[in-house]
Amino acid sequence: MDIGIVGSGIAGLYLALYLQRNGHRVTIFEAEDRIGGRIFTHWFDENVYFEAGAMRIPRSKLHSRVYHFIRYLNVNGRQDDKIELIPYIQEHSNNMAFIHNARCNLDNPQLSARLNLPLPPRYQGKPARELLGEVISPWLALLQKDFDFGFSQISQYDVISFRAYLHLVAGWPHEVIDFVELMTSQTNQFDLSFIEIIMQNLDFNTQNWATVQGGMSRLVQSAVRLVGLENIHTNARVHQIVERQDGKVTLRTTGPPGGTFDKVILAIPPAALHRIHDRPTWSFMKEQAIRSMHFEPLYKLGIHFRTRFWEKTPSPCFGGQSATDLRFRWIVYPSNDLGSPSAGVLLLYCWMNDAYRMQSIPRDQRISLALHDLQRFYDIVDVFDQYVDAFDVCWSQEYATGDAMFLPGQFTRFHQVAKQPEGNIHFAGEHLSRHHTWIAGAIDSALHVVMQIQGEKDVRGLGEEYIKATPKRLDEPWRAYVIPHHNNLEYVAEC
Ligand SMILES: Cc1cc2nc3c(=O)[nH]c(=O)nc-3n(C[C@H](O)[C@H](O)[C@H](O)COP(=O)(O)OP(=O)(O)OC[C@H]3O[C@@H](n4cnc5c(N)ncnc54)[C@H](O)[C@@H]3O)c2cc1C
Repeated sequence: MDIGIVGSGIAGLYLALYLQRNGHRVTIFEAEDRIGGRIFTHWFDENVYFEAGAMRIPRSKLHSRVYHFIRYLNVNGRQDDKIELIPYIQEHSNNMAFIHNARCNLDNPQLSARLNLPLPPRYQGKPARELLGEVISPWLALLQKDFDFGFSQISQYDVISFRAYLHLVAGWPHEVIDFVELMTSQTNQFDLSFIEIIMQNLDFNTQNWATVQGGMSRLVQSAVRLVGLENIHTNARVHQIVERQDGKVTLRTTGPPGGTFDKVILAIPPAALHRIHDRPTWSFMKEQAIRSMHFEPLYKLGIHFRTRFWEKTPSPCFGGQSATDLRFRWIVYPSNDLGSPSAGVLLLYCWMNDAYRMQSIPRDQRISLALHDLQRFYDIVDVFDQYVDAFDVCWSQEYATGDAMFLPGQFTRFHQVAKQPEGNIHFAGEHLSRHHTWIAGAIDSALHVVMQIQGEKDVRGLGEEYIKATPKRLDEPWRAYVIPHHNNLEYVAEC
């Protein structure tokens, strides 16, 4: 078949590789001059980079398809495209938070008292993480034991927000909810669907993480070379989709000529679908889903400094992150090039309201606000003197508009209908999976489309063919796999 794919994010690239391997001809149309969508490594110079998009992969079973995909790329790709995974340090012992103008330890059980926050006695003397854990641990255990069953159970509460669950079901007073929401860096996220917050905690409950040496965009680079640059048109925003009498679908773009295909896959987020000038009108609920699936805005700012001063203070941070209640919410210390004597990048990150607010101010003001706040955090370093330059992305201003984070009830109403094909038009993207905000979700959605096109109930992910599982030993936390000689991946977590 001739298949047209709209969008060169990881969902589009994965589909292209899968379908090519199965004998189909594919053509990708990408609106931007850059391939990769929300995987975006920005290079300040030939040595210094930061992740403006996806930055880490949990070593968990739920993300194992990403690791399988990397194996696939490494086995089939060029030698110089090899993807080397390095540990991503999620937490470092010296990471300190900064709340209410002071550095603090979020695990200090007296933190609410120190902030003069009068919580009811039952909630005093416990860190926010512990309070949250009391409510969510049973749900996480259910999902870890049997994901499909667990998901069906958490879906019972999809219709209410996580805040409503904490208040109405767990009986938490509002001040406790606000305390926990702030300390877990989730301002306004608790107003999203119960499912989203449980899923988010499930992923962040992972102990070990990985990232790609040289940047996550190496995944894109390797995939692009395998798909073939001649099959990818950049600066080709699809603005018209026409269903023909013979069942084929014609795509027209703003740049290069489009084409007519047996099947078309729209691997683009709902906001991008909404912006296509001219396309068929689909069922009432599909259109409702495209109109309303909620995405959270995200803002990332990489600040390039002359030295990695955060690794040289009396309490140096080698990786991890600091949570703050400042205008940016996290200071992320890079996990690459740890201990290097040369320049480095601090990544400032925020989402929801904090990210919305960034988009309405000019870029130079965003940077000066960030430096100002960073100076409050680092009072022993002259951060202005260390500053070289900066690069930021307000994801709400991009095609993606952020990452999918559904409002209460949206999973129940939209999850099935949004991913159903309409004739020969299929839909992919992280928002169509149960695993929003992750590369793993984009891959899950791509595999779902492969099943639709091939009429199969189940398919193996790319790279799974290279794995031969060895029996798990009781004394080992990891299940070992036999990995091809030239592959550098050691393990994925089995539980
Ligand atoms: C700031 C940030 C941090 C993240 N961190 C992580 C992380 O640490 N780990 C992780 O696993 N995931 C992370 N994610 C999520 C992950 O990046 C996404 O889930 C995934 O990359 C989405 O892939 P996709 O193919 O569904 O969509 P996208 O990557 O958005 O791809 C869609 C593509 O379609 C193109 N397009 C749109 N409209 C048109 C049109 N009309 N014609 C042609 N092309 C069009 C877009 O330009 C884009 O390239 C993060 C995302 C962001 C934004």
